[in-house]
Amino acid sequence: MPRRSPLLGLLLLLATVKASAAVFVVPADSELIDRADAIVIGTVSEIHSEFTVEGPIVTNIDIEVEEVLKGSLERSVPLRLREDGGVIGDFFTAVSGSAHYWTGNRALIFLERTGDRRWRTWGMSLGKFDFVRDSDQRELAVRWATGQADVLAWSPEGHPHEERLRDAALFLAFIRSHGRPAPLQPRLEAAVGGEGSAGYFVDDVRAEELSFLVPVTDAHYPPSAYTSGTFRWKIFDEGGAASYRANGTQSGYDAVGAAQRGLAAWTNDSGSNVNIQYGGTTSAGFVQDSINTIVLNSASDVPSGSVGYARWFGSGTHTYKGETFYSIVEGDVAIKSGLTVSQKVFDEIVTHEIGHTIGFRHSDQGTPASNEAVMKAILTGNYGATLGPWDIEAVRHVYEQTSVLVPPPAPVFTDDPLVPRVTVIKALHLIELRNAVNSWRTAAGLAPVAVWTDPNPAGVTIKAVHILELRNALDPALRAFGRTPAFSGGVAAGQPVLAVHFQELRNQMK
Ligand SMILES: [Zn+2]
Repeated sequence: MPRRSPLLGLLLLLATVKASAAVFVVPADSELIDRADAIVIGTVSEIHSEFTVEGPIVTNIDIEVEEVLKGSLERSVPLRLREDGGVIGDFFTAVSGSAHYWTGNRALIFLERTGDRRWRTWGMSLGKFDFVRDSDQRELAVRWATGQADVLAWSPEGHPHEERLRDAALFLAFIRSHGRPAPLQPRLEAAVGGEGSAGYFVDDVRAEELSFLVPVTDAHYPPSAYTSGTFRWKIFDEGGAASYRANGTQSGYDAVGAAQRGLAAWTNDSGSNVNIQYGGTTSAGFVQDSINTIVLNSASDVPSGSVGYARWFGSGTHTYKGETFYSIVEGDVAIKSGLTVSQKVFDEIVTHEIGHTIGFRHSDQGTPASNEAVMKAILTGNYGATLGPWDIEAVRHVYEQTSVLVPPPAPVFTDDPLVPRVTVIKALHLIELRNAVNSWRTAAGLAPVAVWTDPNPAGVTIKAVHILELRNALDPALRAFGRTPAFSGGVAAGQPVLAVHFQELRNQMK
């Protein structure tokens, strides 16, 4: 685990004072340069995902290195990044906040050496910048949100609204000169200014003006608009639940309570079918093992720059509202050890990471966007374990509560069909209809009729009221199943009850 630098500690302290915290704690650029083990400019030549011995899928990203700005790397051999997550056939592993690469992608990449001597992007998507051109053909370096169409441009102070784009040439010059004992060149000196006030920031271009940002104008958002990729749990649709277990606790916090509250926050929204339950404690870790685990005090699983981390695993696909989703089968959360935030913020971190494991993206990194959410990339600290408006909108779009009604089987009748002027109507026919109607009312979630006229019809003349109360009782039950009741002919007091009146009641329920 990287040593926490004094600056990071300061950021956390400030975050506490302001009652806000960051899932990504974004360092100043100069600190990012210092903390990265290497920095390169390169182009992605190949990407392939593979299963690992430990289980989770990883993705190898080969980079043709064009320039090494820091560190000792061979430029002649491709640099291989190994990032968590990936898709192989119907299997996938996803991680929150991971950097997104594609073949041919030229990028500025800050690198982190992992424990097993491999390379990965520093701080997930924090360490990756793409090069784009604005309308004046000026080259900019842009830190994007993962897989989303919005820019991440967090200031070192964590102000969410301060989108900062970087002039690529000046930013690269700053990186190249950073930490060198030699004095800055005069031109750069003017441009750079000093710590935290780098002159390479571009404030005259807004992210929306970058050419390939496509604004979403359709207000009817599909479920996938709210998810990170197309991942969701299928079992909730089938009335199932997922059990999450807590591993450990964290000094100074009601950590297990935070896990319980976070699970309840998502489960208890009345408009969705999400059902994630607290299943007790476990010694299982932040690994793919078919156990949904919330590690509450992790010294090693949370990448640099983050206070929480989530992974989710799946197998197979399913269709939901016309879209194909990978079916999530496991979600794991890791909360960084040694936190200094408030209990409320701790709750919000846990709730946020659990939200990732049920598929949700960051609320402010895509469309529709909102800062009113526990799923905001940088937490507001306002919500704790309570869903914000965006979260509620998301959970109801992706896991809409649809009561799946199953009609009762077609009833077996005596003397079916009834033949007019042939079949003698019996009390048994009436009793069977009453039982069948009550089966339909029960299946539709309606109370069965408790008291019928002439509850024991044996020996009683069949009357219009018997038919009318059957029709009235059956009508709402049929409508609950999307059927439109259709009864021919009125039944009036004093008029004879016909076989057709019985038969059409029967037919409506078949
Ligand atoms: Zn997140």
